[in-house]
Amino acid sequence: MNAMNFEKQGFFGQFGGVFVPETLKTVMREIADAYEALKNDSAFREQLAYYAKEYIGRETPLYFAERLSREIGGAKIYLKREDLCHTGAHKINNVMGQILVAKFMGKTRIIAETGAGQHGVATATGAALLGLKCRVYMGEEDTKRQELNVFRMKLLGAEVVPVTKGQRTLSDAVDAALQDLAENYQDTFYLVGSAVGPHPYPTMVRDFQSVIGVEARRQILEHEGRLPDYAVACVGGGSNAIGLFAGFMNDKNVALIGVEAAGKGVDSGKHCATMTKGRPGGLHGAYSYRLQDEKGNPAMTYSISAGLDYPGVGAEHSFLKDSGRAVYKTATDKEALEACVRLSRTEGIIPALESSHALAYGMKLAATLDNDKIVIVNLSGRGDKDVHIIRENIAL
Ligand SMILES: *Cc1c(COP(=O)(O)O)cnc(C)c1O
Repeated sequence: MNAMNFEKQGFFGQFGGVFVPETLKTVMREIADAYEALKNDSAFREQLAYYAKEYIGRETPLYFAERLSREIGGAKIYLKREDLCHTGAHKINNVMGQILVAKFMGKTRIIAETGAGQHGVATATGAALLGLKCRVYMGEEDTKRQELNVFRMKLLGAEVVPVTKGQRTLSDAVDAALQDLAENYQDTFYLVGSAVGPHPYPTMVRDFQSVIGVEARRQILEHEGRLPDYAVACVGGGSNAIGLFAGFMNDKNVALIGVEAAGKGVDSGKHCATMTKGRPGGLHGAYSYRLQDEKGNPAMTYSISAGLDYPGVGAEHSFLKDSGRAVYKTATDKEALEACVRLSRTEGIIPALESSHALAYGMKLAATLDNDKIVIVNLSGRGDKDVHIIRENIAL
């Protein structure tokens, strides 16, 4: 693909693009070309399917939460059980896809950046599985807040590099990873953890996570003989949501709902509701909705769930919001905690606090609907990693 054409790739309406320095543009073009070829390559597809089944444990169930639905007294709630994936969340779907792209490209070294550490752990897992070197950049502040995940990554054989520049959090870790890539792209692959960043990442990550929606669509047809009325997922960077939405994108009667974290309330200044409260701008190599401070720097965001705590969102979500194909709502910390307790007690499933945001909105919605309606909620991860936070916030 020539350079001019590449500049025009990766747009969802006005959002997306490849806003990186020239050296990195060449690297992004190499990855985009490799991915375009691999996605239809039978050897690549066979290996991805093999690891999806034998390692991740796919397909995951689409589970009818019967007791929960009955208690709420409205629509039927189905849960897509991504919490049952190996490592406890959907992130591994994307990691296995990208790590196989890296392997087929002949790369021997994987780098990633991580905020809370969940993507770092998933990346370290994939790298261990395929015997690739792995380095994870993490803001120094985050390494202190997430000591246990730092240890997990090291246990899995990865090197964790604390970033001491700027605010010492995720955005600074992204800069450090991009710098490393620019210097070492010959043997190195940058594994991005959500449907964000420059082209081709938002497309590639969506494709690898679309297994969620493709399975859910087939499964609901098996269970109910019809499509759902709503598909609901939480949105941090947007990968689990875009993966669920992808399965229903062309089904115009399926409403797609993304749920952002309202933290202490969308007007409290302590939230990360990027599309609800943000404006379009440039962040981490792409044009998309973002939250920024008065100086134009990434805003200090907050959520009880570390995985939603990000000041940007994927370009395709920005486009879906403006086009109206998807709508974006919010749930507060408190609502998420209540949903978490509710699901634990009615179904014996402790959901991740990220997923609890989707569940909180899904439950609120279901209560307003007739009982012949169907709501699918994506349970993006399990709550074991959050038990200490839940314990600090509720009295039993
Ligand atoms: C990381 C994470 C998220 C948020 O990431 P998305 O890219 O928005 O999906 C949601 N749920 C869980 C369990 C996570 O670990």
